Amino acid sequence: MTHSGPREKCGVVGVSLDGRDAARPLYYSLYALQHRGQESAGIVTHDGFQQHDHVDMGLVGDAFAEADLDGLAGNVGIGHVRYPTAGSVDSSCAQPFSVSFKSGSLGLSHNGNLVNAGEIRDELAALGHAFTSDGDTEVIAHDLARNLLEADLVRAVKRTMSRIHGSYSLTIMHDDTVLGVRDPEGNRPLCIGSIDDGYVLASESAAIDVLDGELVRDVEPGELIVLQPDGSGFDSYRLFERERTAHCFFEHVYFARPDSRIDGSLVYDVRRDLGRALWEESGVDSDVVMPVPDSGRAFASGYAEAAQEDGAGVEFAEGLMKNRYVGRTFIMPTQDARERAVRLKLNPIRDVVEGKTVTVIDDSIVRGTTSTQLVQLLKDVGAEEVHMRIGAPPIVAPCYMGIDMATREELIASDKTTEEIGEEIAADSLAYLSIDAVAGALEESRADLCLGCVTGEYPYDIEGEATDREVDRPVIEGEAPADD
Ligand code: AMP
Repeated sequence: MTHSGPREKCGVVGVSLDGRDAARPLYYSLYALQHRGQESAGIVTHDGFQQHDHVDMGLVGDAFAEADLDGLAGNVGIGHVRYPTAGSVDSSCAQPFSVSFKSGSLGLSHNGNLVNAGEIRDELAALGHAFTSDGDTEVIAHDLARNLLEADLVRAVKRTMSRIHGSYSLTIMHDDTVLGVRDPEGNRPLCIGSIDDGYVLASESAAIDVLDGELVRDVEPGELIVLQPDGSGFDSYRLFERERTAHCFFEHVYFARPDSRIDGSLVYDVRRDLGRALWEESGVDSDVVMPVPDSGRAFASGYAEAAQEDGAGVEFAEGLMKNRYVGRTFIMPTQDARERAVRLKLNPIRDVVEGKTVTVIDDSIVRGTTSTQLVQLLKDVGAEEVHMRIGAPPIVAPCYMGIDMATREELIASDKTTEEIGEEIAADSLAYLSIDAVAGALEESRADLCLGCVTGEYPYDIEGEATDREVDRPVIEGEAPADD
C-alpha cells in the first residue's frame, strides 16, 4: 500500500490509578509530550460505568479548560497529542478515537503509521463498518472492536496485531482497562512507569518524570501491557517476536526530548555522542562552534568537547538566538513562508560571529531551507567562513513510519551529493554523520534500526519502495493465526 490519509506523528499516554481521577495526571503528561504534536490534544477516561472524553484542536494548554478536566471522571484514562500535517487541519482525525460497541467501549491513541490500513478498511467497510475519518487509528479501533466480540482482550489484541502492518505505539482503553501495545518492530517508542498510586504508559519517559514517577522500562517490541484497573500493577504478554527490531533513529536525532530515555539510552547522551562522532569524522578548525537552537545544542556541546580534548582551539558559543514563540518552520505550507519563518525564528549575535570562522551544528537537513538561510545570515553579520556539520546522515527518502518530513522531491539530499548541497546552501564546507556513527551512538546494530529515510530501504513492505528485510506480512484475509 502506498501511504494515504493523514500520517500520525504523535504522543500517547495512559494511566491507571488507585482511587484518584486520572484526568489531571494525563493532562500534565500530555504537556510533557507537547513537542510530539501541536495540532490537537485529547483525553478519554472511564469511571467504571461509562467513558468520558474531551478532544480539541490546539496546544494542550488551549485544548482543556478547568471544567473540561473536571468532567473527565474516572481513575483510568488515555491521552493523545497530534502532530500537524502540512497545510491541513482536520478535526475528524483528532484523538483519542472512541467508539462504543456491543461488548463495551473503546478508546484508542496511536503514534505511528500503518502501511496496510487501506486494505483492512476496505475489508471492514464491506462487512458493514462505517468510518468517520480517513485515519489509521479508526481502522485499528474497528478491527479491535470486531475481534472483541469473539475473543478475550489479549486474544483480540493479538488478532488485530496480526492483521495490521506498519509502525504503531498504542494506548487503548477497553471499558476501565488501559493497555499499551508496541508494534513487533518497536518502531515508535513506548515505555511504562510507576507513580505512587498507579502506573503510566507514555511515548517518552519525560511524561513519567513530570508525574514524579519512575521509569520501569521500555515496552518491548510486540508486547502488550495490561494495567490493573486499580493501579496496583500490570501484566505483560509478548505477543509477537521478530528477529530484528526497527527502532527509529530519528527519534533520538530530532523528535524526542533530550531528557527522555528511549530503548535504554538517554536521548541527551546519544546526541552528545553523535556530536563527538561528528568531530571525529569531519571536524574542522574554526574559531567558534555554535548550535542551531534548540535541536543542535547537545550535538554542538559534544562536538566542542571532543574538539577541545583534541587540542583544537575552538570556542563553544551560542551565536544564534531563537524566538521561542515561532512555531516549527518546517510545517509552513509554502517555501516563502518557511523562509520568512526561519528569519523570524533565528537571529545571529553579530559580536559572537563577526570576523570569525564559524562551525554551525544542526541535527538534520530536510529541505535545506534552514541551512541556506543560516549561512546567509551569518555571512551578513560578518562571519569569515561558515562550516555546517549535521548530526544525522543525509535524508534521501521520505518517512512512511510516522514522522512528518517532506516528499522525495522536496528533500534536498534526494538527488544531490553532499558537495552539491554544500554549494547550494553556500557553506564553506558541509559534512553529515555516517550511518555507522548513528548505530554506534545508539549502541544498536544497523540491522535493528529503521533507516528508511537515510537509505531508501524500509523495514516494512511499502508499495514502490525497497525493503531492507524479509518482511513478515500479517494475515489479512481468512482465519487469524492461532492464538497461542
Ligand atoms: P529544513 O530547513 O527543511 O532543512 O529542515 C531542517 C530543520 O528542521 C532542522 O533545523 C531540524 O531541526 C528541523 N527538522 C528536522 N526534521 C523535522 C521534522 N520532522 N519536523 C519539523 N522539523 C524538523
